[in-house]
Amino acid sequence: MKKYLLPQEGSFYKANLHTHTNITDGDLSPEEVKALYKAHGYSVVAYTDHDMMIPHHDLSDDDFLALTGFEVAFNEGNLYPAKMESKCCHLCMIALSPDTKEQPCWNPKYAYLGHAKEHHGEVCFDKSKPFFDRDYTHESVNEMIRKCRDAGFFVTYNHPTWSFEDFRQYSGYEGMHAMEIYNHDAEVYGYPAYVPQIYDDLLRLGKRIYPVAADDNHNRFPDGHPKCDSCGGFVMIKARELAYRPIMDSLFRGDFYASTGPLIHELYFENGQVHVKCSPAMRVSFSMDRRRFLSAYGENGEPLTEATFALDPDAIYFRITVRDEHGHYANTRAYFLDELN
Ligand SMILES: [Zn+2]
Ligand SMILES: [Zn+2]
Repeated sequence: MKKYLLPQEGSFYKANLHTHTNITDGDLSPEEVKALYKAHGYSVVAYTDHDMMIPHHDLSDDDFLALTGFEVAFNEGNLYPAKMESKCCHLCMIALSPDTKEQPCWNPKYAYLGHAKEHHGEVCFDKSKPFFDRDYTHESVNEMIRKCRDAGFFVTYNHPTWSFEDFRQYSGYEGMHAMEIYNHDAEVYGYPAYVPQIYDDLLRLGKRIYPVAADDNHNRFPDGHPKCDSCGGFVMIKARELAYRPIMDSLFRGDFYASTGPLIHELYFENGQVHVKCSPAMRVSFSMDRRRFLSAYGENGEPLTEATFALDPDAIYFRITVRDEHGHYANTRAYFLDELN
């Protein structure tokens, strides 16, 4: 019997889950961000300004959904702005419910970026609670993750290489739903932005998390400019409809894949084999928690659009990577074998 790993029902919706606007340090207004992304075929944008959770439900329409979020930062030495040579940890929080109004934490040092101060009145947080302690420690980051999860947020660990973090830091972070396997703003500025190795590091530590490709756009340069940081990394979310709850439920369940170009049309498991159908690819590869990866190529150097891999029953998880002729990648999440029962 076929077991669909990406649901058979529903439609794919293209989403950017990490965006800045001129409310903080981005250059475009929330409306201009919407216009840019709609023009490029996106249906969903999560607005994740630094420390400023402002719902933009007024921007949602039949073809567009604005998700409510914010990005938090922990800087080494608790210095804002961060010292250029120091490490930091950034997390994006996206509300699972459109009714979420309260920002669970607030950093008075970071909430003065750009035009943030003009919008302080729009941010909802409980002023009776003390400001969250943001020491750059595992304990502090993990407490923030817990707090935001408990408050109903989808938590993503952002751009580890831009943050200068390594295994010593990210191996100790607990409870993130996802990590950025690709960050387009980092790519544009020349950082190592595609980091599948870090995704595997986290998976092999037993962390069941999803890969996200996102823009982290600030739009210092216009659409079409080589330094434009929009429309480079996205997720394709399979959901029954374009509405807040169904989209976030799909994200929460892992019914999506991350990409910088190629599309994955179908993914299912049947009789011990994993089948994938995709846009024309130069290679489709199948990786696990163990050596003995597999890869499929087209005949005579031609692209291929489907591949089948035999699953090692002793593996703990597997995931699939599609590479197209431009060197762009699509990444499924890791599927754990105990999910296949
Ligand atoms: Zn960041
Ligand atoms: Zn950001």
